[in-house]
Parts: sequence; C-alpha cells; structure tokens
Amino acid sequence: MMTKTDPFANRPPVETALFDFFKIGPGPSSSHTIGPMKAGHDFLVLLQNTDPKLVASGTALEVTLLGSLSATGMGHGTDIAVLAGLLGNTPEHCPPGLLQNMRENPQAIYQFKVGSLSLPLSLKQITFGPVKHDSPYNNTLVIRLLDANKQTIAEREYYSVGGGFVQWKGWQEPKRGTPAHPYRSMHELQQRLKETGLELHELIIENEMAITGMSRPQIWQHIDELKMAMFESVEHGLLGFGKLPGTLGVYKKAQAILKHYQGHNLLIDQLLGRINAYAFAVSEENASGGVIVTAPTCGAAGVIPALLYAMREDLHIGARALNEGLVASAAVGMLCKHNAGIAGAEVGCQGEVGVASSMAAAMLAHALGYNATVVENAAEIALEHHLGLTCDPVGGYVQIPCIERNAMGAIKAYNAVLLATAEADTQHKVSLDAAIMAMNEIGRNMNIKFKETSAGGLAVSVVEC
Ligand code: SF4
Repeated sequence: MMTKTDPFANRPPVETALFDFFKIGPGPSSSHTIGPMKAGHDFLVLLQNTDPKLVASGTALEVTLLGSLSATGMGHGTDIAVLAGLLGNTPEHCPPGLLQNMRENPQAIYQFKVGSLSLPLSLKQITFGPVKHDSPYNNTLVIRLLDANKQTIAEREYYSVGGGFVQWKGWQEPKRGTPAHPYRSMHELQQRLKETGLELHELIIENEMAITGMSRPQIWQHIDELKMAMFESVEHGLLGFGKLPGTLGVYKKAQAILKHYQGHNLLIDQLLGRINAYAFAVSEENASGGVIVTAPTCGAAGVIPALLYAMREDLHIGARALNEGLVASAAVGMLCKHNAGIAGAEVGCQGEVGVASSMAAAMLAHALGYNATVVENAAEIALEHHLGLTCDPVGGYVQIPCIERNAMGAIKAYNAVLLATAEADTQHKVSLDAAIMAMNEIGRNMNIKFKETSAGGLAVSVVEC
C-alpha cells in the first residue's frame, strides 16, 4: 500500500450495529422513503410519550420537507412514507402494497390518533419546502403538532442521514455496549485481526455481540434472514413485467435479460448476463416500492444481492461462506459510513452504488477464502473506480441511472475480485482508507446539483417524454 498512516486516527471507533446497517423495508429510497417513514413513526411515539392533555389540544399536524427530500421527494414517495409512519407503520412491518395503494389514492383522508386526539390527515398536510435551507443536514424534515392558535405543541426537526438512519435536533447516540475489538479505520481493523488471530467475520460478530447484547446464534440467524430476504427480492423481481411506477415509462427488464443470456455461446456472457439480471430484478423491485434490504441503501440495494445470488446459483458457494461474506461486506460498508457517507444526498452515488460495489467485492473475496488483505484490496478497487460518481436521478425516480448502475456496480465488484486475486496482496498500492478519504473529500466538494436534487447531470440532460 502507498500509505500506512491512519487518516482517521482522531475519529471515534465504529459502533454501528450490523442490523442497523442492513434493514429490510420498502423502496425506493432509504434516505427518502425508509428514513422519512421512521421519522413519521418516531413523531407518533413522541406524542404518545407527551402529556396527554397537551396532545389532546392539538388541531393540526404539519410536515415540511426540505433540501433533497423536497427536490426529489415526489418521485421517491417521501410524502407517502412520512404519512404511513405517522399512521403507525414502520419499514420492517409495512404491509406489502401499502405505499402503492396510498400513492394510487392521493386524495384519501386518514385519521391520525394519539390517546384521545383524532385528527384528519392527508397528503395535503405535507409541504415540499425550500431546497436550500439552513439546517445542518441536506435531507431534513420538520413535523409539528399545532393548537387552535397555531402555537406549536410539539416539534421535531429530523435528519434522514442515509441508509435509513434517522437523527433529529438534539439527538444523542443511544447508549450501547462498546465494541470488543474497537477500530476506526481499515488500517486499525487489520491490526485487530493480526492481534486476535480472528477471521474478519468472527471479529465483526464479536463486536456485534458486545454492542447489541445479542447472542452469536441470534446474530447468525438474523444474517440468514437477511440473506433470504435478499434472495426473495431477486426472485420476486425476476417475475416482474410491465412498466415501473412514475412518469418515465421505464420498462422492467430483469426477465428479458435473464432469458437473453440463457444458453449464450460464451460462458462468461452467461454469468455476467445473469448477474445483470439479478441486479435489475432487485432494483426494479425497489423502484416499484417492493421490499428490499438496504445494502447500504435502497437505491443501491441490487448490487450485493445480485452477486450473492450468483455466488449461490452460479458459483455454487455454500450457505455458510455466503453468510460470512455478508458479514465481511458490512465491515467495509460501516467504515465507509463512519468515515465518509453512504447517502447520495451527502456524497453522491459513489456513497451508494460505489460503497455497495466495494462491499460486494469484499463479500465475494471473503467467501472465496482469501485473506483480509485481499478482501481489503478488492473492496478498495471497487470503491476507487466509483469515485466522483454523481447522484442525478431523472425525474427524481430511483430508475435512471440507478437500475443499470446497480448492474454495473455488481459487475465491477466481480472484476475487482479478479484484479485483487491476480496480484500479490502486498503489491497493492492504495489502501481502502485512502479511497474512503478521497470519497469523503470529493463528496463534500460535490456541487449540490449532483447530490440527489435532480438539478444537474442526467436529470437535466435526459428529456422526459
Ligand atoms: S443515482 Fe445513485 S445515489 Fe442517486 S438515487 Fe440513484 S442509486 Fe441512489
């Protein structure tokens, strides 16, 4: 590696839990759908824990979407997601088809109930506010309960910080256990692996046990459930046909891609064609508001399942290695989140599809039994060659360029493993930390036009018919 210094030496250790990172929920966007739904649900819980007399004096609820949530919230269904959250739904338990039904009935009036308070609630109460604002985070939404004099009874300013994570003004990290093997960077993680003699997945599992208090069998069972949810999203997506929701008129293509490459005379085309089809399947499922796993986000949810499914179906890798690979991928994703960002609105698409591709490369290299240096090199190559990638979804829909981009991210991950396993592991020049540091710098300096606002790039150059 070119540098052995640790650029993140002054940061706190990574304390993200695996299951905060990988979340099952409805698409199309972790920051614009899952996060806002959680915010709506959190506000409901806040009122449930507020003086009932005060809450009963409420006469109106107001929701204001700001920044990227306002710019592309319509295409991402942000308004519908907040509404569903306020009505008591959570991403994990959101009934299938609920968001689609709500989208198809925009005039519907619902009842918002807390204790003795019952207020009519509809999409009309959700305002798309200014794209430029003073809040500290681009993806901001404010929810208020007002009394008859328009005085605020309760208010919370939420930040949807990517990957379905939500914070708010005055939010404090919940108290949890501390990691058994603390690390702030890949450099430190490699050191911990050398000191302990643990394999990468074993170290991450020991940290997870210490942070969450979950037992080892509970954690492995949950990983297995995540893997099965990813497989279901591939298989369900492969059954899809017709057009995706929205005004772009984009057709679902996963099935057609799969058929096209069946029996193709080049074996490599058969494999790459299938990985493409699997990535399209999940991304089309996501764009339809179907259930996916954030990996690390909804927009990039097709990359890891595509490679994971191919690893089972086409490379015939066993279930245990798949699960261990998934855990190794999370180590990479958590480092990217901790030291740069994983939201298109924060650092562009390099933080979504770029990070997903990097995670997928780590997953495959680890599942194939390569050492942690090769795993890092594969992850680094995949991330390095997504640096600078902008987020410019056409019409604010997670369709163009997102769906094809997921397929490209999965294929690049496969190629990154080919490159990393063909060189001596010590000859690789760039560390993963250096690539993450570059992503952070590029993301912070990226014009807001290219951060999920649909104000630049393809979102402007592609003319909607
Ligand atoms: S362009 Fe990339 S970051 Fe932006 S919405 Fe699409 S997948 Fe997400």
